[in-house]
Formats: sequence, structure tokens, C-alpha cells
Amino acid sequence: MNIELVSIGTELLLGQIVDTNAAWLSARLAEIGVGVYRRSTVGDNLERIVSALRESLERADGVIAIGGLGPTDDDLTREAIAAVLGEPLVLDSAEAARIQAFFAARGREATDRQLRQAMRPPSAQPLSNPNGTAPGIYAEWRGKLIVALPGPPNEFQPMASQQVLPRLAARTGGRVIRSRVLRLCGIGESDAEAQLQDLAQSENPTLAPLAKLGEVHFRITARAENPADADAMISAMEQEVRTRLGAYIFGVDETTLEQAVVQQLTEAGQSLAIAESCTGGLLGHRITNVSGSSAVFLGGVVSYSNALKEALLGVPRAVLEAHGAVSEPTARAMAAGVRERLGSWWGVGITGIAGPEGGTAEKPVGLVYIGVCDPTATVVRRQVFAGDRETVKYRATQYALWLLYQGVMRGGCASLSQP
Ligand code: AMP
Ligand code: MG
Repeated sequence: MNIELVSIGTELLLGQIVDTNAAWLSARLAEIGVGVYRRSTVGDNLERIVSALRESLERADGVIAIGGLGPTDDDLTREAIAAVLGEPLVLDSAEAARIQAFFAARGREATDRQLRQAMRPPSAQPLSNPNGTAPGIYAEWRGKLIVALPGPPNEFQPMASQQVLPRLAARTGGRVIRSRVLRLCGIGESDAEAQLQDLAQSENPTLAPLAKLGEVHFRITARAENPADADAMISAMEQEVRTRLGAYIFGVDETTLEQAVVQQLTEAGQSLAIAESCTGGLLGHRITNVSGSSAVFLGGVVSYSNALKEALLGVPRAVLEAHGAVSEPTARAMAAGVRERLGSWWGVGITGIAGPEGGTAEKPVGLVYIGVCDPTATVVRRQVFAGDRETVKYRATQYALWLLYQGVMRGGCASLSQP
């Protein structure tokens, strides 16, 4: 089966917003083996929407329209689908009641404009929208599929996942689609892919990489007759990935690296204090984003100046003078100093040059030293991160979290000095 996408909205053509919905949906369709050979974008113009839908229906087995289902006059997707089907638009009273209830719950009354969203061609089915007012449309025309979904991503994505993809999966074989994301750190996308090449050929379940900043995700998607079968297929694929790359996997689905670190520390009953220079508190921010982090995170020092590195962390002036603030001995002294002064089990010290200015041949922009220590050992890693100022800062915190995660997992900081 192959499907075309038609994104609708003048703001897309003007470059005011980026078509993230089409990119996201293309990836999801690929995962369930539905081909997407063309995508098009049209403005809020009835004639052009109708012709884009017709052209797609000539070429493909179906078309999914994105956007243009709102209450305003320039939202014309409903009208366009009615024109393609050769049907009038009639009010769906159940959907109208739902829209009225949506507004009543907010102490307001639905206007006629709002109720326009409950109009649909009689042969089409509505797709319910749990996060908004505009229902989607699901219709068939000469054995082909016409689907329309609202544009706001927080409405679009759940409706596509829960209502459209399962129906497409049913048409391509299988009745349910389930997926699981494995999250990896400490390995690049291409290295990870190289080790999974044969698995990536699999059509069901599929295995698809997603490169993120400082981590790599692999999404496993299975189509099956029932959820239990799909889960069993996913688990088998997951096991295979874990056998090869298990050392890099820190979490599943929505688990963030900072959550994984907090969880490991909690299980180990070990506390953490951090000293940040170039990251300016970003590491503390990420850790405190995790609910429950107070059980293990004592706090941190943002010691940006040399004076504070000395006064608050006890970094010896001689070290700062001999090696500079961005150096292996400074990162070491920051980690050890914060650990000692704040009385934690683990200490982390980060110092580096986030750029874009301040780099030299010897100490380039992006150079960061990350120190980690516990009662038994201190380890410092030298890294040169690519990217702009914010990216370097983020990557530095990512690296620190990953070091910490491995240190706790392997039973102590001393384990980090082995490769
Ligand atoms: P619409 O349903 O066309 O009125 O779109 C409502 C809002 O959804 C727009 O203002 C955008 O913020 C968002 N939106 C619409 N289409 C897309 C798209 N293809 N990708 C991402 N966001 C979109
Ligand atoms: Mg619009």
C-alpha cells in the first residue's frame, strides 16, 4: 500500500511554520510498511486543495490531508473532501454535542464557527479528537482512502497513532501496531547502525534509528493480530539489539538519561553533588527535572570564575595558574572539592570552553573536561564537542550524565578507568 500526504496551510508555504507533521507521519508510515512516494503542500485555497487531493488519489491507494480542519474561514479541508466525494456537508449531531460539551466545560458557549467543525460528508466517519475540538475525517472513495487530521501536533499525533495507523496496519496485514523505543548513549548513530544492519532489513517488526542530540534511539515496531503477539515480536527484537548493544542502552520509551541516572543512584542509595563551570547550572537543571531527584541530589555549585572555584570548591590557586581553568587537574579538583564540601557519595566537575569565542589552538572551542569521583577513585575525560554554545553545553551535561550512569551501573568510579 502507498499513501500520499497533502499538507494544507498558507503558513507552511510562507515558511512561517515547518511541516513537522508530515515528517513525523512519514516515519510512522515507513515503520508499518506503508510507502510514501510523494508529499505535497498547498495553501488555504479550495480549488488547489481539491486538485491536490484528486492528484494524490489518482496515483496512490490513499491520501492523508494534514491541517485545515479548524473553525476559521480559511480552514477548507472539509469542503475539499466533500467536493472530491461529490457529497454535501451535513452536521454530525453527536460531534456537535461533543464540541458544545467541550466549551461548556470551560464555561463558554460554542459559536456557529466552532460547530462548523462538526460538519462532514455523510459517507465519511468522524475521528475523535481527545485534545481539541476538530474531529478528523475518515472516508473511502472508489476503494481508496481519504483521511484528514487537524494540524496542531498535540492533536495530530495521538489521532494518527491511535486511529489512523492501526487502520492502515489492518489493511497491510495485522490488526495492531505496537512500538518500543530503545535509547542509547555513548555510541554514534552510524556505529550503532553498523551493528544492526541485518536487523534493520526486517519488515515486521521494523527497526528504525533516530539520531538525537547526544543519544541514539531505535524504534521497534511490530504489526500483529493482537497486542500480546506484537509485544512478543518486539521483545524478541529488543533482546537481539540488547545482545549486541546492551552496554549502551540506558532506557526504554520515554526514559531520559537524567531519569536513568537518578534511578540508578536511588537504587544504589548514593548521593550526588556537582560543580559546573561552562554548563552554568544546566546539569543541575536536568537532574532536578526528574521528580524524586531530591532523594539523591544534594545540590551544586555554579563556579564560573576562578575565584569561586578556589573559594567554594577548594581548587588550588597553583592548579588554576599552572594549568588554567579548563584543564584536567581543575576538573579533577572541582569534582573532588564539591564531593568533599557537600558531603556526597558522587562528585562531578565540568569545565570547558563553550565558545564561540575563547578558543586557542591548544584549547579549542568545544573542549570540555568532565571529572567524576566517588570515595574510591576520580576519573577525568577530555572531550571536544562540536556545535554552537548551547549545543556544547548540552553535550557536556549529556557526557557527564552518561559517565555517572556507567559508574553507578558498574559498581563504582574505579570501573570507569577501564575501557
Ligand atoms: P490548521 O488545522 O491548519 O488550522 O492548523 C492549526 C495549527 O496547527 C497551525 O497554526 C500550526 O501551528 C499547526 N500546524 C498545522 N499544520 C502543521 C504541520 N503540517 N506541521 C506542524 N504544525 C502544523
Ligand atoms: Mg490552517
